[in-house]
Order: sequence, then structure tokens, then C-alpha cells
Amino acid sequence: MNSPIFPTRTRSTPRLPGAPTDLQEQACHRAWLLLRSAGGRLPSAPRSSDPELARELQDAFNAGRLPGALIEAELRRALEDGSSDATLLALTLLAAVALERWHGARRALALAHACAELARLPEARDVAGAVLRAHAALVLARVAPLREAALLQAEACRFAPVRPSVMARNASLWTSLRLLGGAPLPELLHYAEAVHQAAPRYQEADDIPVAVSQLAGRISLYHYLAGSAIDAPVARSALAPIDAPHFGCWLTRLQVAYLRGNTAVARSALEASAGLLTPLTPPCELLPYHLFAVLTLAQPDGTTPALRSRLRGHRRVLQEWAERSPGHAGALAELARAAEQDAAGGARALATYEQAASRARGAQLTWVAALAWERAAALCSRLELQAALPAYRRLALDAWRDWGAHGRVRELMQAWDAQPPAHRGAQDEPAEERRAARADTVGELGVAIAHEVNQPLAAILLHAAAARRWLRRAQPDAGRALEALEQITACGRQAGDIVRSVRGLARRQTEDVSTFPIDAALLEVVQLLRALMQRQGVQFESRLQLPGVRLHANRAQVQQIAMNLLLNAVEALGDVRGRARRIVLASEPVGAAQVELRVTDNGPGVPAAEQARIFDALYSTKPHGTGVGLSISRAIAEAHGGRIELVPAAPCGATFRVVLPLRCAPALPTDTNAS
Ligand code: ADP
Repeated sequence: MNSPIFPTRTRSTPRLPGAPTDLQEQACHRAWLLLRSAGGRLPSAPRSSDPELARELQDAFNAGRLPGALIEAELRRALEDGSSDATLLALTLLAAVALERWHGARRALALAHACAELARLPEARDVAGAVLRAHAALVLARVAPLREAALLQAEACRFAPVRPSVMARNASLWTSLRLLGGAPLPELLHYAEAVHQAAPRYQEADDIPVAVSQLAGRISLYHYLAGSAIDAPVARSALAPIDAPHFGCWLTRLQVAYLRGNTAVARSALEASAGLLTPLTPPCELLPYHLFAVLTLAQPDGTTPALRSRLRGHRRVLQEWAERSPGHAGALAELARAAEQDAAGGARALATYEQAASRARGAQLTWVAALAWERAAALCSRLELQAALPAYRRLALDAWRDWGAHGRVRELMQAWDAQPPAHRGAQDEPAEERRAARADTVGELGVAIAHEVNQPLAAILLHAAAARRWLRRAQPDAGRALEALEQITACGRQAGDIVRSVRGLARRQTEDVSTFPIDAALLEVVQLLRALMQRQGVQFESRLQLPGVRLHANRAQVQQIAMNLLLNAVEALGDVRGRARRIVLASEPVGAAQVELRVTDNGPGVPAAEQARIFDALYSTKPHGTGVGLSISRAIAEAHGGRIELVPAAPCGATFRVVLPLRCAPALPTDTNAS
């Protein structure tokens, strides 16, 4: 487990937009000062039990209300008469407020840790669950890796029995925490439903508690994303207290409205939830709140200066969080930054969306990556960057699908009228579908590379804006404007080259046999992979020695072999450290009637025990491999009257050698697969 990330700063966290400074907070502040001046007399092992107060404090914590007056009164009493078990809960809540609002984070943490320790004593059994839960959800989640908070919350559940409404609130908090930790959607749904079913007596009741209704709301959201049907009792309790003054309910409403594209409803849910923020709003709800606030406010049409400044406020809070938790909160903050740039009308938002998505993927926050790709696709569409649009859409669909949000995938596909997403690496798809997906490697890669195109296109927009600025000045600077135009030409050429290659490949996939220059066809594939190889730090060398030699074959399929072999080589180099990563692509004649293509890498090579199996369909040693690349390549080579073989490379690595006749056998059907 990662070590905790304790803040080293002593300054307080920024005020939350919309958070009121009220009497309850002032009472907490007095209690905090009193506690400090009491010089470590509290917390102490409880000498008595006060179930009523414990219950009131816990209800307030569950509802996110700040029971400042109660906390202050209990503290004064405890300083006189000694701690009760409820004092531990009061002090834990106080520590959470102090951490959120005032200087002295270390003191607040020490206090919360001490309370958690004391809560595990037998005398504190009745409040143990509540104290540990508050510690996990409000304190640890602010300072430690989320996993640690989740573990403590799990420990808290051992201190049963709890009331159904507390169980339901816990389940909401737990799933929110796991959501932020990157858990797959089916896990969240399964857990939340199990808890909801365990509170049956509320399902039929007329006055469904807010916590149960909030849980049902979250279940409905998860079902909507997963595309599955909601049980009648869940649907019933999700609707119950429609205007509950509960932050969690409004947060769910905000998320649903945003996802459904209902900006007006999302904005009013945002207003409602802003008014319900307190220092006891748990971070697992706070972070998504700020993210969805930014996404809701960052609408390209008509964002006013006032909205922009609110947006900035939310984004800054996420930024602060990102400093403490660069992985998870960092991904959210990056997405918020991209959305802010997007709202300001900058094409550079595309690059930031990409960064956000890759950061989110790195933190295993697939749903955040999906949101980032979705927004990138929307921006692309507005900018009319047709070349990159399908790639962004596909990435969004892939990410949603990977997370388990098949309902979202279907909805977007309908809206975009798109093709089904790629299934590469999907563990849960039938093998047949996986094979078909991999057989489409050329098309798939074309799409992925089209996504590279957006870099030069975004640069073009920036240079164009710069040129306009230079020319619009009171004294136009034609020199600088010309420089910008030169850059535009260069970027345009670069983008054009890539787009041409992708289109060329896509078009030729449907062709049959043709006669084409083999080296030029190989170079097209290399062009598509160049950016990938650069990113992976691969030194690529081509030794093509068949200039002017024309092959009579199915061009797309021959290119697909090259693509599969080169991709495997890049993947094989992924773990290579301490030596340069090298790939060589070679072509040369073999007698008068055949040609040979070779792809060599200096990776780990193929162990002797595996060499006999690597061409078998579905054989893969990679965690996300499909094991069809080589079998497809062999099928293509053989159908052309040729062959493919592995030759160990010296001193390390692998060489794949493909021999093809200059005039091939009749063409293969385009949906060749290894079965
Ligand atoms: P996948 O790439 O999905 O695993 P392939 O059929 O393309 O499927 O490859 C099958 C297996 O062959 C790989 O999992 C890997 O073990 C091995 N392999 C392929 N190319 C290389 C290479 N260049 N270096 C080392 N091993 C390789």
C-alpha cells in the first residue's frame, strides 16, 4: 500500500465555493481553540456512555450537517467530567472540520488518530463503527491514499449492528469512495444493490429515509450507465424525498443531469448542492461535486464571466487536492483544467483532455478517462476536426465499455451513429468477437493514429490565431504573421500525410488483389506507427531493398502482417531497460520469384518452450493480449502461397521472417481470421 500523503503545509485548505460560514462553524471554531488551550487533556478513554448524543452526532454526520453547537457543548462537558463514548465521535468530527478549515492539520490528524485508537476499546464499542467511519470518510480521505480510507471504512462495518439508514449511507459513501479509487462499475452496482436489499423494511415504507433514497439514486445512476434494468423497489425509493436537503442526493442528480446533457437541470442541482456543502461533506462526494460542477459550467455556448469565475473556483479546489493526491485528484483536476480551457474557446483543450485521459488511465480512473474522451470528441466536432473525431469517439466508447458502462456506450453510439467500439483486449467478450476485432487491426490502428493527427491540427489553430493577432495589431507585424503561416503549412503537411495514409489503408482494405510497390506499402505502415515508436523510445531503422519491386497480392493484408509484427515488436520492447530499444524492418529479394520481409527487435525474444505455440490462435503471454495477431499473419501469408517463421535474433530478441511469392495465389476474403 502507498504510504500516506500527509500535507506538509500548515495553511488551511481553500474555502469551498458556496460554503456558508454559520453559527455551527463558529461553535466548532470555539471548540477547537478550547481544545488547543486544554493542552492534550482530551481525548481520553471514555468513562461513560451517551447513546443519545452519539446518535444525534452520527445522524448529523450522515446527513452532512455540522453539529457545531453539540460538539462545543460536549467538549466543555468532557473537559469538566471526563470523556463519554460520544466525546470520541464529537472530537473526530471536530478534527475533520479543523482539517478542512483551519491551520494545524497535523494537530487535527493526531486528534483523529487518537480518537480512532480509543474507539477500538471495549468501553467505546457502541460508537466504534461511527468513529471509524467518520475517521475514514472525513479525515483519512482528505489526507491519505483513498485505499487506506476504504480499508478503515471496511473495518468500521465490523462494528455492527447498525441501523438500515446508517447502512445505506455507508454504502453510498463506500461506493463513492470506491468510484474514486477506480473500482469497476459492476462492483459498485453489486455492492450498492446488496445493501439496498438488506434494508427491506424501508423499501415498502411510506417515509423512506433519505439515506436509503440516496443509495437508490446512486443505484439508478449505476444502472443507467451499465444499461441494466432497475428493480421496482429501488426505483420507488430513488424517487422518494425528491427535494431532500441532502448533499448526496443532489450530487447524484447533478451527475445524472450532466450525463444526460440536461444543462438546465444540472445547473439547478449544482445550486442546490452548493447550498448544502459543509466542512463535513465527505471528500468522496466533494471531489466528484467539484468535477461535475466544472463540467456543467464549462459549456461552450454562453459561459458568462460570472460562471467562468465560479468554474475557476471549483477547478482550483480540485487543483489543491491534486497537490495532495496527484494520482486520483490529479486526474480530476486535469480534466477540470481541460474543460476550463475548452470553455474559454481554446483548441489547446484537446491536448489537455488527452493528458487528463492518460492521467486518469494511469490512476485506473477509467470513467474519468471516458469523460475526457467524450468532451474531446465534442470539442473536435465543434472545431470540425473530422479526421480526429472518430478516434476520440472510439476512445470514449472503449473507456466506457472497459469500465462496464455498456448503457452509456449504447446511448453514445446511438447519438453518434457510430460503429461498435473495438474489442481489443476485452476479457468478457466471446472469443469469436475478439478474433474479428483483431482481424480489423489495420482499421483499428488507423483510427488510433488519426488521433495523433489532432496534434498538428490543434497547432494549426493556434498558429492561425497568432497570425490573426499579428495582423490585427495597430501596426501589423507581417514578418511574425508569415512565420506563423509557415508553421501552419508544415503542420498541415504533417497532418495531411498521416490522414492520407490512414485513408489509403482503409480504402484498400476492401480491395482484392492488386499490383503495388512493396517497399512503399511497408513505409505507409511505418508512417502510422512512427509516433507510437517515438513515444516508446524505440530507435527504428528501415532496410528496405526492394525499390521498384511490385508485389501482386492483397495490399491491405500484407500491410496487416507488417503492422502485427511491428506492434508485437514494440510491445516486446516495453520492459527493456538498460539498452537502446531497436526495431529493424527489412525487405529483400529471395531468388527471382519471392520476396522476404523481416521485423527484428532486441527485446526478450521468445523462450524456446513457447516457440511452437506462438502462431496458434488465441495463444498469448500478454495480460491483455488476444493471441490472434500471429495466427492471422500466418493465415494471410499461407493464403498468399507464402510462409512466416520466427528466427531468434542475436544477441537477444526476435526476428519474424515472412516470405511471399511475387505473384500470390488468389486473394483472401477480407475478413480472414485464424479460426
Ligand atoms: P498477442 O500479441 O495478442 O499476444 P500474437 O499472436 O501477436 O498475440 O502473439 C502471440 C505471442 O507471441 C505473444 O503473446 C508473445 O508471447 C509472442 N511474441 C510475438 N511477437 C513477439 C516478439 N517480437 N518478441 C517476443 N515475443 C513475441
